[in-house]
Amino acid sequence: MQLPSALLEQAVAEFSKLPGIGKKTALRLVLHLLKQDPDKVRAFAESMVHMRTDTHFCQRCFNISDSLLCSICSNPMRKQEMICVVESIRDVIAIESTQQYNGTYHVLGGIISPLDGVGPDQLYIDQLIERTRTGDIKEIIFALNPTIQGDTTIYYIQKKLQPSEIRFTTIARGISFGGELEYADEMTLARSLQHRMPVDQLKV
Ligand SMILES: [Zn+2]
Repeated sequence: MQLPSALLEQAVAEFSKLPGIGKKTALRLVLHLLKQDPDKVRAFAESMVHMRTDTHFCQRCFNISDSLLCSICSNPMRKQEMICVVESIRDVIAIESTQQYNGTYHVLGGIISPLDGVGPDQLYIDQLIERTRTGDIKEIIFALNPTIQGDTTIYYIQKKLQPSEIRFTTIARGISFGGELEYADEMTLARSLQHRMPVDQLKV
């Protein structure tokens, strides 16, 4: 793509580094910004930098947060004795948008997948175990993608937490095996949470 300005070319190159953005879309976005008031473009750029530098991981659940504890962990209306274990922050967003869950979360940062070189040590599993020791946790709901790796992760964590009085459940398999949580529609996801089942019923 031949562009009349090196600066324009640089901006297009930066946008096309984003996932799902090809060169043509990048150019369309850059040309859109070019038409805007410079102050608006500065505000846009600054909000990106602020987002990157000023957000943290919640020190309890590893959700994205603007402070040490995220808005869910620090909310006294949420059931702190209930932890929903998810793979990523995108799953927290997906479950929150169902408005059907009133407990807390624990973001693992991935799932155990030996083929991809991901072992338990690379995930926030120890921190989850620590939470069950220091807090009065009554139930752990596993809301992981229904795949071999997801089931292996559930099995591993549950074994690590034995013996325990905690009730272990997993979301109902309304979501197809091999499917991805974040792409499920809200109804299916909400139903899966309502009809969660004991982990014992999983066939690993
Ligand atoms: Zn949190």
